[in-house]
Amino acid sequence: MSEIERIIKNIEAGKTTATLETESAILRAKADDSNAILEVIEERALERAAGIDKEIEQGIIRKLSGVPFVAKDNFLTLGSKTTAASKILENFKSPLQATAIERLEAEGAICIGKSNLDSFAHGGSTENSYFGVTLNAKDKARVAGGSSGGSAVAVAKGIVPFALGTDTGGSIRQPASFNGVVGFKPSYGLISRFGVIAMASSTDTVGPITTSVADAELLTEILAGQDKKDMNVMSDGFKPVESGKKYRVGIIKEYMADGVDKKVRDRVVELTEKLAEKGHKVIEISVPTAKYALPVYYTVVPAEISSNLARYDGVRYGLRAKDAKTIAEVYGRSRDEGFVDENKRRILIGAFVLSSGFYDAYYQKAQKVRTLLINDFNQAFNNVDFLIGPVAPTLAFKIGKNAHDPLQAYMEDILTVPPSLAGLPAISVPAKVAGDELPVGVQIIAPYVKDAELLNFARVAHGVEHE
Ligand code: GLN
Repeated sequence: MSEIERIIKNIEAGKTTATLETESAILRAKADDSNAILEVIEERALERAAGIDKEIEQGIIRKLSGVPFVAKDNFLTLGSKTTAASKILENFKSPLQATAIERLEAEGAICIGKSNLDSFAHGGSTENSYFGVTLNAKDKARVAGGSSGGSAVAVAKGIVPFALGTDTGGSIRQPASFNGVVGFKPSYGLISRFGVIAMASSTDTVGPITTSVADAELLTEILAGQDKKDMNVMSDGFKPVESGKKYRVGIIKEYMADGVDKKVRDRVVELTEKLAEKGHKVIEISVPTAKYALPVYYTVVPAEISSNLARYDGVRYGLRAKDAKTIAEVYGRSRDEGFVDENKRRILIGAFVLSSGFYDAYYQKAQKVRTLLINDFNQAFNNVDFLIGPVAPTLAFKIGKNAHDPLQAYMEDILTVPPSLAGLPAISVPAKVAGDELPVGVQIIAPYVKDAELLNFARVAHGVEHE
C-alpha cells in the first residue's frame, strides 16, 4: 500500500484525522535536523485540517483528505513566505497561491511547510541556498542534490508522504536519486506553473516527489490539466493507464560512458536484466546529440534566467538597497546584495549569449542544436518505447566538493538536461541498494506526452527492483 493510500484508508476507518496527520507532520518538520524545511506553516495548516475533519465527519473524503505535504519554496503559498531561498525575497509574502497548491488543497491535502532549494532553483546540490545547505537523508556529510533538495529529503525522511518540486534540468530527478525516493518530471506543459517562480520558461516543469510510483500517478492526475491562469498547459490532462504490455526499452549508449560512476551504471544494468527476465525487450540505443546537451542547456537556460530575473530590481519585489541615490544604484545594489553568486553567474552568462554581437554564435546556435537533439530522441523512439539510463553520473557527493568549481557542478546535470531540453517526461526510480550503500535512482524517459505510459512502466520497474 502506498503512503497516501495508507493515510486515506486510516482516515476512512476513523483511525486518524486530518488534524492528527497535520500535527505529527509539523512536529517532524520542526524536529528535522537536515535543514530540509525553511518554514513550517502551522496556523493555516491546522485551520485547514480542522475544516477537513468537519468534512470527514459528514462523510466527505477526497483523494487527499488530511494528507500533509511540503512545497519547494519557489511555489507561492498562503500562510508563509516564498523566498526561492534567496535574500532578495527573504521577506516576500505572496497574496496568492500557485495552481498546483490550489489543486492539491481542493482534494484535501495540507501544505505544512516550504522546503529548501538552491537559490532560484539554480543548482544541483542545495548548496546555493541563501539559507544554508540541506543534508542528505542517508549521509549528513553529503549533499541532498538539488535544486529540490529539501523536498526530496523531507519525503525520504518520512516528514511528509509527498512533496512538490520543480525540474528545469533535473531538479526533481537528481535529488530523488540521491535520497532514494521517486521523482517525476512530467512532459513540458502537462502541469500548470502559475504561481511558481520562473527560472527558464522553455524547460520549467512542476512535479511530485513520492515514495512510490502509484502516489506519483495519483498526484499527477490531480495536478495536470488546463488552467485559465497558465495558457501553456495542454488540455488533455493525465489519466493513469494499467497495462501488462511488454515494452521495448533502450539503454542510452552515451549515458553508460566511462565518466559515469560504475556503481551508478551497474544499477541500470541490473534493473534492465530484471526487466528482460520479465519479458521486456532491452536493446542498446544511441542518442548521439545528447553529448551536446549540457552546453546547449547552459546557453539557453541562463538566457531565459537573465530575462526572468530582471523583475527583481529592488523596486517591485523584496529587498531594496538602502540609501541608493540613483535608480541605477537601486537596481545594481539590490541585485548585488540579493542574489547569490550562482544567480549572478547565470544572469551574466545569459545577458552575454543574448547580446547582439554574440546572439548568433551562442544563443541561436544552441537552439539549432536543441532541435537536433529533439530529432535524435524522436529517432530513438521509432525503435523503443522508453529510454533508460542513470540519473546523474555520481552518487550523492560530499558537501563542498564542487563549491568552487561551477563547471564541475554543471557536469552533474549531464544526464538530466537532455530530456528537459526536449520537453520529455522522465522519472527517477530508486534502485535496490544494500542497507549501508548510498541511494541511487535509474532514469526512465518516454516520448512527449506519454506520461501515463511512462508511469505505468515505472511502476513495473520499481516493482521488479524491490520484489
Ligand atoms: N542542476 C540544474 C541547474 O542548475 C537543474 C536545475 C533545475 O532543474 N532547477 O540548472
